Amino acid sequence: MPYKKIFIVIGVLLVTGILVKYSFFNQKPRQTVKGASTTEPLAIVSSDEGITPQGKFYAPILVYHHIALKRPQNSYYVSPEIFDQQMKWLKDNGYHIISFDQFYAAALGKEKIPKKPIIITFDDGLEDQFKNAFPILKKYGFTATFFIKMNNLNKGGMTWDQLKELQKAGNIIGSHSVNHDDMSKMPENQLKYESEESKRLLEQNLGTEIKYFCYPGGAYSANTILAVKNAGYLAAVTTRHKVDQEIKDGNSIYTLPRVHIDDEMPTFIDWVQGKNLY
Ligand SMILES: [Zn+2]
Repeated sequence: MPYKKIFIVIGVLLVTGILVKYSFFNQKPRQTVKGASTTEPLAIVSSDEGITPQGKFYAPILVYHHIALKRPQNSYYVSPEIFDQQMKWLKDNGYHIISFDQFYAAALGKEKIPKKPIIITFDDGLEDQFKNAFPILKKYGFTATFFIKMNNLNKGGMTWDQLKELQKAGNIIGSHSVNHDDMSKMPENQLKYESEESKRLLEQNLGTEIKYFCYPGGAYSANTILAVKNAGYLAAVTTRHKVDQEIKDGNSIYTLPRVHIDDEMPTFIDWVQGKNLY
């Protein structure tokens, strides 16, 4: 059939046109286009502009608790001296600290993030985080996300004024529930209270939307995820020890892995690079 040949010629011309448009006249030769079947490429990867993550992507979320000296060592304590060395190592080795908002937008494919991205988080709203970690973060120009355990606030934990000061400096405040109980085996009404009341209190006192949640002890179930979603949170973090993020379905953004950091440099360097993770 001659028509078949005409269609093939038209097809070849169209494909050539697309190739010419995206290859020869492209003003940014370092970009590579993936997803050739669409006229609007989904992922443009460039070393200058950063990356748009797709599927599985490297973006370690680090988790710290106390930033204070503790001897003998305890896995919930990192000394200010080691914390400073860890932050310095990230800076010296070309890592980029991004905010949780940037990470969230990137995970949904809406924003590019720099290569070697790192997200820093602190759990429990402990006062030594404000006194010891905050000055070190500022020294390196870094910001972090602080997940606040509400029953700790003003009672050995941080104060509202300290939270406001963190926020003013560009840090993000998230919720870590009211009572810090295991949320994997809670009745529905209690799940609702823990997720909604903490959000309400934080929003009322800080005047900003509280978008991110952290499961106490990293424990969650399908019901926990549902309660956190229904409360209006956009994402939630766990303590699954991984450096790679993978957004596969609607629950992935509510079960984000994090790397629990110890009071040591060698393990820190390994873990940040995804080596020898437990
Ligand atoms: Zn906690």
